[in-house]
Order: sequence, then C-alpha cells, then structure tokens
Amino acid sequence: MDHAVSAQLFTQAKKSIPGGVNSPVRACRSVGCDPVFIRSATGATLIDVDGNRYLDFVSSWGPMIVGHAHPKVVAAINRAAAAGTSFGAPTAAEIELAEMVVAAVDSVEKVRFVNSGTEATMSAVRLARGYTGRSGVVKFDGCYHGHADSFLVKAGSGVLTLGIPGSPGVPDDIVKHTISIPYNDTAVLEKTLREGRESIACVIVEPVAGNMGCVPPRPGYLQKLRQLTSELGIVLIFDEVITGFRLAYGGAQQLYGVPADLTCFGKIIGGGLPVGAYGGRREIMDCIAPDGPVYQAGTLSGNPLAMAAGIATLRLLGQGDFYARLEAKAAGFAAGLARAAEKTGMPVQLNRVGSMMTAFFTDRPVHDFATAMAADTDRYACHYRQMLAQGIYLAPSQFEVAFVSAAQSEEELARAVEMTEWSFKKILEK
Ligand SMILES: *Cc1c(COP(=O)(O)O)cnc(C)c1O
Repeated sequence: MDHAVSAQLFTQAKKSIPGGVNSPVRACRSVGCDPVFIRSATGATLIDVDGNRYLDFVSSWGPMIVGHAHPKVVAAINRAAAAGTSFGAPTAAEIELAEMVVAAVDSVEKVRFVNSGTEATMSAVRLARGYTGRSGVVKFDGCYHGHADSFLVKAGSGVLTLGIPGSPGVPDDIVKHTISIPYNDTAVLEKTLREGRESIACVIVEPVAGNMGCVPPRPGYLQKLRQLTSELGIVLIFDEVITGFRLAYGGAQQLYGVPADLTCFGKIIGGGLPVGAYGGRREIMDCIAPDGPVYQAGTLSGNPLAMAAGIATLRLLGQGDFYARLEAKAAGFAAGLARAAEKTGMPVQLNRVGSMMTAFFTDRPVHDFATAMAADTDRYACHYRQMLAQGIYLAPSQFEVAFVSAAQSEEELARAVEMTEWSFKKILEK
C-alpha cells in the first residue's frame, strides 16, 4: 500500500497547521505512523489521496452511523445549501430537530443547539452552576467531555492518548472546582458526593465511557448515581455525545432506564456536520437566556445545513428495527473477534455495548481508567499498522472505540475478523 501523496500532504500540512492536524489524535503519534489523508468516502469505505480503500471503523469518531455520504443525508444538505447557508435568524428546521430530540429522549423537555460537543458540555455545566448557585463539578477519570477548561483534569481521548495529565493554559483557579474520581466505584462516588454536597453543582458522566476505550457501567452504577444526585440536589449530566442515538434512539438513558437532568449531544445528531446540543428538564432549561440569566449564544447555532443533516439522519435511525439490526451485526462481529483471540491465544478484553467496542490488549478485565491503562499500547500500535495495511481503518489509539455502522456488510465484517486473526498471530510471532 503506497502512501506517497499522504506523506507529501502531511509534510506540507505541518508547515501551516500545528502538528499538521486540526485535532491531535489524527496525527497518529501513539500508533507510530503518519496519518493517511482522506479524499472521499461512501458507505463504510474510505478512499485516501493515494487511492487506497479502507473499511471504516472510526465513523468520523461516531457521527457516521448510517455510513458516509448517505444519499438521503446528502440530498437534505444540498436542498438546504441551495436555500441559503446561514441567516442568524430562526428557521423551522430547528424546531423540527428539537422536537425529534424531545420525542426521542424522555428526560429532555427542551433542547438548545450549539456547534460542537465541547460547546454542549461547557454550556450544560454553566447552566448547572447557574441553576444550583454552586461551582463544583464531579467527573470521572478517563471520561472526555470536550476541551473546555473545567474538563481537562484526568481526561480521556487525545489527552489520555498523548499522555498529557492536565493541560498548561488551564488556570488552577478553574481546575480547583473540578473533582475527578474513578469510574464504576460506588463507594468513592457516594463519599465524594455526600462530603461535597454544599459545593457540587453537577456530576457529568459518559453513561458508557467511550474515551478510554469502551468501558460499560457496572450493573447498578448509573442507578446509584441517579439516586445519590437526586437525594443531594446535584444536577446529573449525561454526556451522550457518543452514546446519544447510537446505543438506542433514546440513548444510553433509554438502554439503562436511568434519566438524566441534563443531556449533551453531538456527533450523530449533526449527521456529519458540526452540531452539538444540550437539553433537559424544563425547569433547568428555562434558566438559559433569553428566558433566564445564564448566558449562552452562537452565531452559527442551529445552522440550516447542520439541522438538515441531523433531521435526515435521525429519520433513518427512527425507522423500524434499526437498532436491533445494528446490535445483531455488532454482536456477530464481536463474537468473531473473540474467536480470533481464542484461536491465536492473544490476551484481549473485548468490551462492547451495542455498536461501540474496544479490544484492550490485556488479560485483565477493564472497568475503569486504571485498568484501561494496563493495556499494551505497543501491541495496539502494531495491530493498528497491520490492519491499516490490509485496508481496515481503526482508531489510531488503544483508548478509542471501534464503531460498527449500518453501512458495513456482513462480508466486510467477516473480512475484518479474518484480518484481526492474522494480525494477532503476527504480533504473537514477534
Ligand atoms: C467527542 C466528545 C465530546 C466533544 O465533542 P466535540 O464535538 O469534539 O467538541 C464530548 N463528549 C464526548 C463523550 C465525546 O465523545
């Protein structure tokens, strides 16, 4: 597989863009190679600038659940573009998407659109602080909520991948309000919330963690979180930027039967365009300007192209048994990976919820940040490079999720399983 054009573009990119990329993990540093530059994509296939084709498991980090360039989504974007790309004034499309979100997620009575997941979580925390009059934020080690100052404490995703503990540029005065505790540990959670009840505004959590690799909540953990926050008057924020419209039409909160006070969306909700949203109980949402005093705004928020892409995507997801079919496909794929591990004797932990999964290169169960860190990242890097060379495009980090999409065929997934077995074998021969 030749990557000459990608290599040339990367050299050029580094001259005008920091690290040559607009989001750090894309630089592929943790897997020890240079990124491939993508020219186009349809369905589950990416084509790079050298003409190589890949079966995509990154899904643009989550949004492309119906596949790339889905004809219905493209048509909706084209129609919207032809009618003008931005007005900075209300449109009917915003109501349509808002009503779809409110109908889909039981705990969401009102929703505000923004332009990214980061904006959604940042705004939800401000709202929780404004609503409660308190400043404290509790988060979990290895969870990622975008790159706003308050969240860059033991965060997941690129922060974890690149081994950056906090971040320079984030003042201690801000970080001192953030408490980061281990995920899936009920005792620490209860102690932290009870001791901090006077000062904690909110708890923000990925109901299924996806940014330290896939780490599901232990049975009863989310229920305990709900019960404690309700009892103590702390706002519970579910960051469903990945899980929203992925694990079920109503998100992780539908799957686990645990409602949030505020929910953050992103990724899928924009159908591949830059959108985020936060929503929740009317009583809390009514604190946002212009109804209330908590300020939050956006020049391009509710952008017509983004709304059109989101509406078209959600329509596809709301049809028939979309999630049951995706679950069956993902379960079959995971079973194939488990067989590949067993046949080759490769020690891996396969964590999966619905169409999000991670194969951790470790022989011990992964249920939090510390256990995720036990994974052998050198093995993952080797696996990544070998799979890429065979036309399988995985996330360039052990601590990210592989996404199964509706666009992948059974044949393509079977080939990915075959290649995984081959790759595991080759790693163990070294
Ligand atoms: C991706 C992600 C974000 C940030 O969204 P951006 O659109 O990248 O700003 C926030 N929370 C979670 C759980 C995410 O996975």
